[in-house]
Amino acid sequence: MLSSKLFLFPHTTELTSEGHLAIGGCDVTELVAAFGSPLYVFDEATLRAKCTEFRSEFSRYYQNVMVIYACKAFINPALAILLNEEGLGLDVVSAGEIMVAQSADFPSHRVYFHGNNKSNEELELALDCGIGQLVVDSLHELDQLSRIAQDKKLVPDISIRLSPGVDPHTHQHITTGTIGSKFGLPIATGQAEEAVKRAIADPNLNLVGLHFHIGSSIFEVEPYKEAIRIAIQFAAQMNNIYGLQLKTFSPGGGFAISYTSDSPAPPIAQYAEAIGSTLLEQCHSSGIEPPQLIIEPGRAIVGQAGVALYTVGAKKEIPGVRRYIFLDGGMADNIRPTLYESEYEALVANKAEEQAEADPVAIAGKFCESGDILIQCAHLPTVDTGDIIAIPACGAYSIPLASNYNASLKPAILLVKNGGTQLIRRRETYKDLVSLDNVANNRPT
Ligand code: PLP
Repeated sequence: MLSSKLFLFPHTTELTSEGHLAIGGCDVTELVAAFGSPLYVFDEATLRAKCTEFRSEFSRYYQNVMVIYACKAFINPALAILLNEEGLGLDVVSAGEIMVAQSADFPSHRVYFHGNNKSNEELELALDCGIGQLVVDSLHELDQLSRIAQDKKLVPDISIRLSPGVDPHTHQHITTGTIGSKFGLPIATGQAEEAVKRAIADPNLNLVGLHFHIGSSIFEVEPYKEAIRIAIQFAAQMNNIYGLQLKTFSPGGGFAISYTSDSPAPPIAQYAEAIGSTLLEQCHSSGIEPPQLIIEPGRAIVGQAGVALYTVGAKKEIPGVRRYIFLDGGMADNIRPTLYESEYEALVANKAEEQAEADPVAIAGKFCESGDILIQCAHLPTVDTGDIIAIPACGAYSIPLASNYNASLKPAILLVKNGGTQLIRRRETYKDLVSLDNVANNRPT
């Protein structure tokens, strides 16, 4: 059972002599016994290996590369410390993510501030803590930032987020580079040019770069190549007309990971080759100096490193129709299947070697929504109450999208390495759940 799915799991995944799943040298059934479930387990070795792979693969094809991790995939202070040790930067999109970075003493000059509706307070915070670059998303933001920078007598480095008008062929909720997207300034409408013109003329801003991010979970490299050609041709025009000196360029993130055995993601090397080579070629043919290349992976750094563990409770069979097993988590800790129809595979962690039954089961959560089904058709051995279900590739966009739906408690998160554990986020308590609520004083009279 495990061998065909092994590549979906963290690098250190193995079987114990009892046939249990082990990650980072830890038997996951023992982790659940000690920390409860649902439990998210991150493998430190996989996290570090992904950081290294991004840096080394992109450097093979392009000389001047900076890898910045997109915090929206999942961030907390312990992870920020690890990413800093690995020499990565951070892509943040809110004051909250800036505060997490600050709490881990992450060097501000390696933090890049994205987002389509930054508040005055967020921009002020970014300038006060010396954020490396602000990525401007609209003409509105350009004026807003200019005013704030002028008040503070600062001249921040900025880049402009372009909307290159390229379809990355991914789920429509995670497509961002097409002309109607809420993100970026379209090249086709002239708004991107207007932004460059205004930014260059503005003494309060230092325009250093251009950026795009065309979407997430992109399995093809051609959309990146196409968007890079468009963006660099645009940069060359802006150089001719307004004297734009392109010092940094980012094609964003969006690199796919494997969620199921039948849809393996391309290796990082394939994206690196496509992006690095196309950027170099296009710079040469457009006659511009190759800028620093900034890569923004989120999912591809943390996705495979994280495994979600659940305990099986009730089971239900609707004769001739469907069989269910019910977990102690579900859409409150991982809304991706409900939101994007995302697919996953599962393993019974305490029966990792056993053969699957002929008929599939649906793996459903415990929340009061019919859509709370993590896996519609899972091929598993006979599952009993108390078994531990492990779902691989859960490290990205599960925890940050988690909710307290049905007044549930958000799960604990562990980092594992060489048989040791670090609880990097404790499980919420019922006390946490009501800690913001005021019962006594606010009763209407
Ligand atoms: N960069 C930007 C600007 C983004 O908006 C996102 C995700 O939405 C990312 C990077 C990371 O994307 P992924 O996690 O798919 O690599």
